[in-house]
Amino acid sequence: MRDSIWTHFEKLGHISGYQQKRAKCQHCNFQINDALRPARAHFKKCKHITLQQQKNYFGNNLPGNTLQPTNILSTNFDITPSTTPNLQKNIQSFVDRISHSEQQSLELYFAKAIFQCGLYLSLSELKPIQDLWKQARPAFKLPNRKELSTTLLDKVYNETKIEMQFLMDQSENLCLISDGWYVFLYIFCILYFIIIFIVFLGQI
Ligand SMILES: [Zn+2]
Repeated sequence: MRDSIWTHFEKLGHISGYQQKRAKCQHCNFQINDALRPARAHFKKCKHITLQQQKNYFGNNLPGNTLQPTNILSTNFDITPSTTPNLQKNIQSFVDRISHSEQQSLELYFAKAIFQCGLYLSLSELKPIQDLWKQARPAFKLPNRKELSTTLLDKVYNETKIEMQFLMDQSENLCLISDGWYVFLYIFCILYFIIIFIVFLGQI
């Protein structure tokens, strides 16, 4: 069966000056010898080919992008994922698996990072963030903004509430401070509010 990498190359046949037949990358017009090895080598480093296209061809273990030993790399290289999708799928799930509880724990950490740092709820839907997580932890499914704004926000709120209640129960006095900094037209303004509640033990 024809290797699927050739959908990205145009066969040029014999060209004067070259002994072997030639082919050119359809994305950047770079010419190579018409053979699988140079085609794969170019496909791996072509700047016009997206990470997703590379992954579709090589699978998640992009040759040269992992820290695996070379003998494993060459094994991956010999597998043609496009013609054996089931085998490739099995290999990927072997490489990275995630348990249900681990998925939930990571989702909670992700949600906390979003809320505590005041980041966009749509962060997990941005392509570069998805690519980053796919590289770091392929099995982890990022929560979408609906999950973030409902179940996860509720969980983080309840956790924080319990934590604060515990701290308040332990304290004899409670002091609430709000602090703000504002810079406008070289005028440096400091907004500083202090509200102090003194709550006697047992009154909370
Ligand atoms: Zn190219």
